[in-house]
Amino acid sequence: MITGATRLAAVIGWPARHSLSPTILNAAFAAARLDWAYVAFEVPEGRGGDAVEAMRTLGLGGMSVTMPHKAAVWAAVDERTPVAAELGAVNCVFWREDRLVGDNTDGVGFLDALRDDQGIDVVGLRCVVVGAGGAGRAVAHALGRAGAGDLAILNRSPGPATEAAALGGAQARVGAPADVEAADLVVNATPVGMAGTRAERGGPAPLPLDPGLLGPGQVVVDLIYHPLETPLLAAAAIRGAAAVNGVGMLVHQAAHAFRRWTGSEPSIDAMAAATRRELARRARADNSS
Ligand code: NAP
Repeated sequence: MITGATRLAAVIGWPARHSLSPTILNAAFAAARLDWAYVAFEVPEGRGGDAVEAMRTLGLGGMSVTMPHKAAVWAAVDERTPVAAELGAVNCVFWREDRLVGDNTDGVGFLDALRDDQGIDVVGLRCVVVGAGGAGRAVAHALGRAGAGDLAILNRSPGPATEAAALGGAQARVGAPADVEAADLVVNATPVGMAGTRAERGGPAPLPLDPGLLGPGQVVVDLIYHPLETPLLAAAAIRGAAAVNGVGMLVHQAAHAFRRWTGSEPSIDAMAAATRRELARRARADNSS
């Protein structure tokens, strides 16, 4: 029950009403029996800094940040973690005594999902990241820091690919499609294949890379989680590669936020189960509309 003592955390974004974060974090608070609640605030572009000030004024216990506010919040917090400082983007704000600290939990969430859910250690792996936006940059940065053996970045526009490769450390470079065939780990960090794209209306399956380059022994991760099985993951599975969707990253990045805010350990199982239930509900709603 919400009382006067309940602590509030929130996600800010535009839009924010379809965010899965309230589902995931409220499940975590309930499982931990913490008197916390989590809501979504739709904050217009250009007002991210104001939202940080509101967090101070209202004494919010924690804040998640999504598009389009990640850079504005980066500029408005008092301090940044080293990862957030290097990425130039904040997706989680927490208190360190009376100072607000901006963090970026996407990369560590990605690595935790691979390690804890799939038993994959990225040290020495040949990796390809397709996409160089916020998620691609965070994943490239995390893979570089975690000791990937080779890291090729592919992106539709060359400029962001160069920037993401610079974040990936000495082993990172701008790659070419042929790198996909030789890779141990292939990550789609573009929105190509998300629900609502052309394939569902009868067009060709939207694919971010040539699936003919995939095969047995590879792990293909699609950061998309709606649908759970994207055209890329379906094609990867048909060709004998291991196919991993974006639910694990979503849950594990939220778990980091939970730890930052509460100082306690969340139930990953409760968070993952709530996420799957909500995604199943949305899939049923999509199919009936
Ligand atoms: P973003 O910052 O907008 O970046 C999008 C990237 O995809 C850019 O590199 C863009 O290339 C590329 N792209 C967009 N449309 C494309 C197309 N039609 N063909 C080829 N490339 C295209 O987005 P983001 O925040 O990085 O998110 C990317 C994906 O990751 C989304 O599907 C998002 O839902 C998912 N994601 C998942 C998690 C998770 O926890 N599982 C977390 C974050 C993001 P250009 O540079 O050429 O524009």
